[in-house]
Amino acid sequence: MNGHTNGDRAGHPARGGVGEGSAETRSVLANGHHTNGHATAVAEPPHYALLKEKITILKQERQAIILAHNYQEGAIQDVADFVGDSLGLARKAKASDAKVILFCGVHFMAETAAMLCPDKTVLIPDLQAGCSLADMIIPEQIRTWRRHHPDGVVVCYVNTSAAVKAECDYCVTSTNGVTILEHIPAEKEILFVPDYYLGSYLKAKTKRKIHLWKGYCPAHAAILPEQVDQLRELHPDAEFLMHPECGCTTKQMDLADQILSTEGMVQYVNRSPATEFIIATETGLLNRLRTQYPEKTFFPASEHATCHHMQRNTLEKAFMSLVRMQHVVTVDQKIAERAVKPIERMLDIV
Ligand code: SF4
Repeated sequence: MNGHTNGDRAGHPARGGVGEGSAETRSVLANGHHTNGHATAVAEPPHYALLKEKITILKQERQAIILAHNYQEGAIQDVADFVGDSLGLARKAKASDAKVILFCGVHFMAETAAMLCPDKTVLIPDLQAGCSLADMIIPEQIRTWRRHHPDGVVVCYVNTSAAVKAECDYCVTSTNGVTILEHIPAEKEILFVPDYYLGSYLKAKTKRKIHLWKGYCPAHAAILPEQVDQLRELHPDAEFLMHPECGCTTKQMDLADQILSTEGMVQYVNRSPATEFIIATETGLLNRLRTQYPEKTFFPASEHATCHHMQRNTLEKAFMSLVRMQHVVTVDQKIAERAVKPIERMLDIV
């Protein structure tokens, strides 16, 4: 558990979907417990404490663990057994001996867990929690590229559907892209999908011949270079940490103090003597940073860098997932057999 109680989203009611007023959630909660029904000094909605208790009990009953992505709201991170980035979550899923994994993230992440753990039941709180970036490429587009580049190697960012991964040779995360690309023979042409900005970053770092797919993450694209310039002027002592998915990468890459994955940012802040940071990634990460490092100050590069897919998951939906054992995420076995290969190739290297 992370003990998060006062992240930057605390105090907001559940974000989207089944909210505080959900009759379904209230009726399941109405088992002799009650809350005082009005706001207190505690920043979260009053029923959250009860929900967290119930979730803890349900986890034991179901022999479940909760894995939460860094972009999830603080209340979900509080009840999680592990909070991290895609790679960390995939590793935890694979290593866990739980029977059930409640995956509080987006669909492609739950698919990855389902493929790595075929003996476990993988649940996601909201089936509509997808990924706009992952949706920017389909399997047929990769097959077309391969017809024109029969000796080429296709590398996919982990933010892809299982069906797309099934067409790829290697999978990477924002943490390990450079390391994985260095394992590919130098003479090979590479297609990198689907994130243009991460691909540009990897191309610059590795000097490889990389064809870039023109996909992007709308949340990261919302971070504009002008906003970053202004913030840096306002906070000249702050270190500027940037995720390589950011649309501002091209202009800002040379100016960033560090280009890091979300997990890389959390670790970097720990070892940096700086006390102020400008964080260029989805704003959900600030929950974790502020809770983990209360003595340091974090400024989001853009308040608008929010992922509406991640925000579909709420504490109520996580609770209902465990109550009803919904929504089970599975991957067609034939696709899974192929899609797991680029993932395992990645896990073998890093
Ligand atoms: Fe996809 Fe962007 Fe949301 Fe991440 S933040 S899940 S890349 S849409």
